[in-house]
Amino acid sequence: MPTDNEKKTGALIFKTRGEFLIDYHTHTWRCGHAEGNIEDYVLKAIERGLTEIGISDHYPMDVLNVPSEDISSMLYQDLQTYVNEVKEVARRYESQITVRLGTEMDYFRDLKLGYNRILEEYDWDYVIGSIHFLEGKDVSHPKNLTFYQKNSLIDIYCKYFDEIKTMTNSEEFDIIGHVDVIKKHGYVPEGENSVKELQEFYLELARLFAQKQQVVEINTGGLRAPVEEIYPAEDFLNKLISHNVPLTIGSDAHHPDEVGYSNSEIVGYLKEMGVNTVVGFKNRQAYEVPL
Ligand SMILES: [Zn+2]
Ligand SMILES: [Zn+2]
Repeated sequence: MPTDNEKKTGALIFKTRGEFLIDYHTHTWRCGHAEGNIEDYVLKAIERGLTEIGISDHYPMDVLNVPSEDISSMLYQDLQTYVNEVKEVARRYESQITVRLGTEMDYFRDLKLGYNRILEEYDWDYVIGSIHFLEGKDVSHPKNLTFYQKNSLIDIYCKYFDEIKTMTNSEEFDIIGHVDVIKKHGYVPEGENSVKELQEFYLELARLFAQKQQVVEINTGGLRAPVEEIYPAEDFLNKLISHNVPLTIGSDAHHPDEVGYSNSEIVGYLKEMGVNTVVGFKNRQAYEVPL
Protein backbone atom coordinates (compact mmCIF):
# COMPACT_ATOMS: atom_id res chain seq x y z
CA MET A 1 0.00 0.00 0.00
CA PRO A 2 1.30 3.48 -0.79
CA THR A 3 2.17 5.46 2.30
CA ASP A 4 1.75 9.22 2.73
CA ASN A 5 4.97 10.08 0.98
CA GLU A 6 4.14 7.93 -2.02
CA LYS A 7 1.79 8.73 -4.84
CA LYS A 8 0.32 6.44 -7.38
CA THR A 9 0.99 7.13 -11.06
CA GLY A 10 -0.70 4.64 -13.34
CA ALA A 11 0.09 1.12 -12.22
CA LEU A 12 3.30 2.16 -10.53
CA ILE A 13 4.05 3.61 -7.17
CA PHE A 14 6.62 6.38 -7.10
CA LYS A 15 8.03 7.81 -3.92
CA THR A 16 8.13 11.57 -3.71
CA ARG A 17 11.37 13.51 -3.42
CA GLY A 18 13.33 12.67 -0.32
CA GLU A 19 13.93 9.05 -1.27
CA PHE A 20 17.05 8.75 -3.38
CA LEU A 21 15.92 7.44 -6.73
CA ILE A 22 18.15 7.27 -9.77
CA ASP A 23 17.63 6.05 -13.31
CA TYR A 24 20.78 5.48 -15.35
CA HIS A 25 19.35 3.85 -18.46
CA THR A 26 17.19 5.93 -20.84
CA HIS A 27 16.88 6.37 -24.61
CA THR A 28 15.52 9.16 -26.78
CA TRP A 29 13.99 9.58 -30.24
CA ARG A 30 17.50 9.77 -31.68
CA CYS A 31 17.95 5.97 -31.67
CA GLY A 32 14.98 5.59 -34.04
CA HIS A 33 13.00 3.18 -31.82
CA ALA A 34 12.22 5.41 -28.82
CA GLU A 35 10.06 8.47 -28.26
CA GLY A 36 10.72 11.78 -26.50
CA ASN A 37 13.60 14.21 -26.41
CA ILE A 38 16.13 14.66 -23.63
CA GLU A 39 14.16 17.43 -21.95
CA ASP A 40 10.99 15.28 -21.88
CA TYR A 41 12.89 12.60 -19.95
CA VAL A 42 14.39 15.09 -17.53
CA LEU A 43 11.05 16.77 -16.85
CA LYS A 44 9.43 13.39 -16.20
CA ALA A 45 12.27 12.47 -13.83
CA ILE A 46 11.76 15.73 -11.90
CA GLU A 47 8.00 15.14 -11.77
CA ARG A 48 8.57 11.64 -10.38
CA GLY A 49 10.98 12.83 -7.72
CA LEU A 50 14.15 11.29 -9.08
CA THR A 51 17.32 12.95 -7.87
CA GLU A 52 19.47 11.77 -10.78
CA ILE A 53 18.79 10.77 -14.35
CA GLY A 54 21.34 9.44 -16.79
CA ILE A 55 20.70 9.79 -20.51
CA SER A 56 22.27 6.76 -22.19
CA ASP A 57 21.19 6.65 -25.81
CA HIS A 58 22.63 3.86 -27.98
CA TYR A 59 26.15 4.70 -29.21
CA PRO A 60 26.30 5.14 -33.00
CA MET A 61 26.42 1.63 -34.41
CA ASP A 62 27.86 2.76 -37.76
CA VAL A 63 31.17 3.25 -35.92
CA LEU A 64 30.89 -0.33 -34.63
CA ASN A 65 30.53 -1.76 -38.15
CA VAL A 66 26.94 -2.90 -37.62
CA PRO A 67 25.27 -3.52 -41.04
CA SER A 68 22.93 -0.66 -41.91
CA GLU A 69 19.76 -2.83 -41.71
CA ASP A 70 20.59 -3.66 -38.07
CA ILE A 71 21.50 -0.16 -36.89
CA SER A 72 19.18 0.91 -34.06
CA SER A 73 21.00 4.03 -32.92
CA MET A 74 21.77 7.57 -33.99
CA LEU A 75 24.53 7.86 -36.58
CA TYR A 76 28.00 9.09 -35.70
CA GLN A 77 27.32 12.40 -37.46
CA ASP A 78 24.67 13.16 -34.79
CA LEU A 79 26.75 12.24 -31.73
CA GLN A 80 28.18 15.72 -31.10
CA THR A 81 24.67 17.23 -31.14
CA TYR A 82 23.47 14.56 -28.68
CA VAL A 83 26.34 15.27 -26.29
CA ASN A 84 25.81 19.04 -26.52
CA GLU A 85 22.09 18.66 -25.92
CA VAL A 86 22.49 16.47 -22.82
CA LYS A 87 24.96 18.99 -21.37
CA GLU A 88 22.72 21.93 -22.20
CA VAL A 89 19.64 20.31 -20.61
CA ALA A 90 21.77 19.30 -17.58
CA ARG A 91 22.75 22.95 -17.06
CA ARG A 92 19.21 24.18 -17.54
CA TYR A 93 17.79 21.91 -14.82
CA GLU A 94 20.79 21.61 -12.49
CA SER A 95 18.95 23.24 -9.57
CA GLN A 96 16.25 20.56 -9.78
CA ILE A 97 17.98 17.34 -10.76
CA THR A 98 21.38 15.88 -11.61
CA VAL A 99 21.56 14.89 -15.27
CA ARG A 100 24.43 12.62 -16.33
CA LEU A 101 25.85 12.16 -19.83
CA GLY A 102 25.98 8.50 -20.72
CA THR A 103 25.78 6.10 -23.61
CA GLU A 104 24.90 2.44 -24.07
CA MET A 105 27.70 0.81 -26.03
CA ASP A 106 27.32 -2.44 -27.94
CA TYR A 107 30.15 -4.79 -27.13
CA PHE A 108 31.88 -6.77 -29.89
CA ARG A 109 34.91 -8.70 -28.72
CA ASP A 110 36.73 -8.31 -32.03
CA LEU A 111 36.12 -4.62 -32.67
CA LYS A 112 39.36 -3.41 -34.24
CA LEU A 113 39.07 0.27 -33.40
CA GLY A 114 39.18 -0.31 -29.61
CA TYR A 115 36.61 1.04 -27.16
CA ASN A 116 39.04 3.19 -25.21
CA ARG A 117 39.85 5.15 -28.35
CA ILE A 118 36.19 5.52 -29.27
CA LEU A 119 35.22 6.64 -25.79
CA GLU A 120 37.99 9.14 -25.09
CA GLU A 121 36.48 11.49 -27.67
CA TYR A 122 33.82 12.79 -25.24
CA ASP A 123 33.76 13.37 -21.50
CA TRP A 124 31.12 10.79 -20.65
CA ASP A 125 29.91 10.52 -17.08
CA TYR A 126 29.44 6.81 -17.65
CA VAL A 127 29.27 4.12 -20.31
CA ILE A 128 26.99 1.08 -20.19
CA GLY A 129 28.41 -1.99 -21.93
CA SER A 130 25.65 -4.17 -23.40
CA ILE A 131 25.42 -7.22 -25.56
CA HIS A 132 22.57 -7.21 -28.07
CA PHE A 133 24.37 -9.06 -30.89
CA LEU A 134 25.25 -12.73 -30.86
CA GLU A 135 26.76 -14.42 -33.92
CA GLY A 136 26.07 -11.26 -35.90
CA LYS A 137 22.37 -11.14 -35.02
CA ASP A 138 20.59 -8.61 -32.83
CA VAL A 139 19.11 -11.22 -30.50
CA SER A 140 17.30 -8.56 -28.49
CA HIS A 141 15.19 -7.71 -31.57
CA PRO A 142 11.89 -9.56 -32.14
CA LYS A 143 12.78 -9.97 -35.85
CA ASN A 144 15.31 -12.63 -34.81
CA LEU A 145 13.12 -14.98 -32.76
CA THR A 146 13.95 -17.90 -35.08
CA PHE A 147 17.44 -17.80 -33.57
CA TYR A 148 15.88 -19.02 -30.31
CA GLN A 149 13.61 -21.50 -32.02
CA LYS A 150 16.34 -23.16 -34.10
CA ASN A 151 19.12 -23.46 -31.50
CA SER A 152 19.56 -25.09 -28.11
CA LEU A 153 18.61 -22.48 -25.53
CA ILE A 154 21.25 -23.49 -23.03
CA ASP A 155 23.90 -23.22 -25.79
CA ILE A 156 22.66 -19.74 -26.63
CA TYR A 157 22.78 -18.70 -22.96
CA CYS A 158 26.25 -20.21 -22.64
CA LYS A 159 27.51 -18.14 -25.59
CA TYR A 160 25.80 -15.02 -24.30
CA PHE A 161 27.22 -15.28 -20.78
CA ASP A 162 30.63 -16.01 -22.27
CA GLU A 163 30.43 -12.66 -24.06
CA ILE A 164 29.45 -10.98 -20.79
CA LYS A 165 32.55 -12.53 -19.21
CA THR A 166 34.81 -11.30 -22.02
CA MET A 167 33.28 -7.83 -21.83
CA THR A 168 33.81 -7.70 -18.06
CA ASN A 169 37.41 -8.81 -18.40
CA SER A 170 37.99 -6.04 -20.95
CA GLU A 171 37.34 -3.54 -18.11
CA GLU A 172 36.22 -0.96 -20.65
CA PHE A 173 32.76 -0.13 -19.36
CA ASP A 174 31.43 1.43 -16.17
CA ILE A 175 28.19 -0.54 -16.01
CA ILE A 176 27.16 -3.95 -17.36
CA GLY A 177 23.76 -3.40 -19.00
CA HIS A 178 20.80 -5.82 -18.68
CA VAL A 179 23.09 -8.71 -17.78
CA ASP A 180 20.67 -11.50 -18.78
CA VAL A 181 18.77 -9.76 -21.60
CA ILE A 182 19.08 -13.03 -23.55
CA LYS A 183 15.85 -14.09 -21.77
CA LYS A 184 13.99 -10.99 -23.02
CA HIS A 185 11.63 -12.80 -25.39
CA GLY A 186 10.75 -15.47 -22.86
CA TYR A 187 12.96 -18.22 -24.28
CA VAL A 188 14.37 -19.59 -21.04
CA PRO A 189 16.07 -23.00 -20.76
CA GLU A 190 14.05 -25.43 -18.68
CA GLY A 191 14.72 -28.76 -17.00
CA GLU A 192 16.82 -29.63 -13.98
CA ASN A 193 20.18 -29.66 -15.77
CA SER A 194 19.63 -26.33 -17.49
CA VAL A 195 18.48 -24.67 -14.29
CA LYS A 196 21.60 -26.00 -12.55
CA GLU A 197 23.79 -24.69 -15.38
CA LEU A 198 22.17 -21.27 -15.18
CA GLN A 199 22.82 -21.14 -11.43
CA GLU A 200 26.48 -21.96 -12.13
CA PHE A 201 26.71 -19.10 -14.63
CA TYR A 202 25.18 -16.73 -12.08
CA LEU A 203 27.68 -17.76 -9.44
CA GLU A 204 30.67 -17.54 -11.78
CA LEU A 205 29.63 -14.10 -13.00
CA ALA A 206 28.88 -12.85 -9.48
CA ARG A 207 32.42 -13.85 -8.45
CA LEU A 208 33.92 -12.16 -11.51
CA PHE A 209 31.98 -8.92 -10.98
CA ALA A 210 32.96 -8.89 -7.31
CA GLN A 211 36.61 -9.47 -8.14
CA LYS A 212 36.58 -6.66 -10.74
CA GLN A 213 34.29 -4.44 -8.64
CA GLN A 214 32.24 -4.21 -11.81
CA VAL A 215 29.03 -2.23 -11.45
CA VAL A 216 25.98 -4.12 -12.74
CA GLU A 217 22.63 -2.49 -13.41
CA ILE A 218 19.27 -3.66 -12.18
CA ASN A 219 17.26 -3.01 -15.32
CA THR A 220 13.47 -2.89 -15.03
CA GLY A 221 12.96 -2.97 -18.81
CA GLY A 222 12.55 -6.74 -18.60
CA LEU A 223 9.28 -6.23 -16.73
CA ARG A 224 7.88 -4.69 -19.92
CA ALA A 225 9.26 -7.44 -22.22
CA PRO A 226 7.67 -10.87 -22.88
CA VAL A 227 9.79 -12.43 -20.08
CA GLU A 228 8.17 -10.05 -17.56
CA GLU A 229 10.99 -10.00 -15.05
CA ILE A 230 13.85 -7.69 -14.17
CA TYR A 231 17.42 -8.13 -15.42
CA PRO A 232 19.11 -9.83 -13.62
CA ALA A 233 16.71 -12.62 -12.60
CA GLU A 234 15.99 -12.68 -8.87
CA ASP A 235 18.30 -15.68 -8.19
CA PHE A 236 21.05 -13.94 -10.12
CA LEU A 237 20.49 -10.63 -8.33
CA ASN A 238 20.60 -12.37 -4.95
CA LYS A 239 23.97 -13.85 -5.84
CA LEU A 240 25.26 -10.41 -6.86
CA ILE A 241 24.04 -9.01 -3.54
CA SER A 242 25.63 -11.80 -1.48
CA HIS A 243 28.94 -11.19 -3.30
CA ASN A 244 28.72 -7.42 -2.66
CA VAL A 245 28.70 -6.57 -6.37
CA PRO A 246 28.13 -2.80 -6.79
CA LEU A 247 24.74 -2.10 -8.35
CA THR A 248 22.98 0.72 -10.12
CA ILE A 249 19.41 1.08 -11.36
CA GLY A 250 17.99 1.78 -14.83
CA SER A 251 14.56 1.66 -16.42
CA ASP A 252 15.73 1.22 -20.06
CA ALA A 253 13.02 3.79 -20.81
CA HIS A 254 12.21 4.17 -24.50
CA HIS A 255 9.38 6.59 -23.68
CA PRO A 256 9.37 9.39 -21.06
CA ASP A 257 6.48 7.63 -19.26
CA GLU A 258 8.86 4.77 -18.47
CA VAL A 259 11.34 6.92 -16.52
CA GLY A 260 11.94 5.41 -13.06
CA TYR A 261 9.80 2.39 -13.98
CA SER A 262 9.28 0.22 -10.86
CA ASN A 263 12.31 1.94 -9.39
CA SER A 264 10.88 2.31 -5.88
CA GLU A 265 10.04 -1.41 -5.73
CA ILE A 266 13.66 -2.19 -6.57
CA VAL A 267 14.89 0.23 -3.90
CA GLY A 268 12.52 -1.41 -1.41
CA TYR A 269 13.81 -4.86 -2.33
CA LEU A 270 17.45 -3.81 -2.05
CA LYS A 271 16.87 -2.30 1.39
CA GLU A 272 15.13 -5.48 2.51
CA MET A 273 18.19 -7.43 1.34
CA GLY A 274 20.47 -5.16 3.34
CA VAL A 275 21.80 -3.12 0.41
CA ASN A 276 22.04 0.52 1.48
CA THR A 277 23.81 2.12 -1.47
CA VAL A 278 23.79 2.00 -5.24
CA VAL A 279 26.31 3.60 -7.57
CA GLY A 280 26.26 6.81 -9.58
CA PHE A 281 28.92 8.13 -11.95
CA LYS A 282 30.49 11.47 -12.77
CA ASN A 283 33.36 11.75 -15.29
CA ARG A 284 33.48 7.94 -15.26
CA GLN A 285 34.21 7.93 -11.52
CA ALA A 286 31.85 5.89 -9.36
CA TYR A 287 30.31 7.30 -6.20
CA GLU A 288 27.90 5.89 -3.67
CA VAL A 289 24.26 6.91 -3.66
CA PRO A 290 22.57 6.15 -0.31
CA LEU A 291 19.18 4.46 -0.50
ZN1 LIG B 1 16.90 0.75 -27.42
ZN1 LIG C 1 20.14 -2.45 -24.33
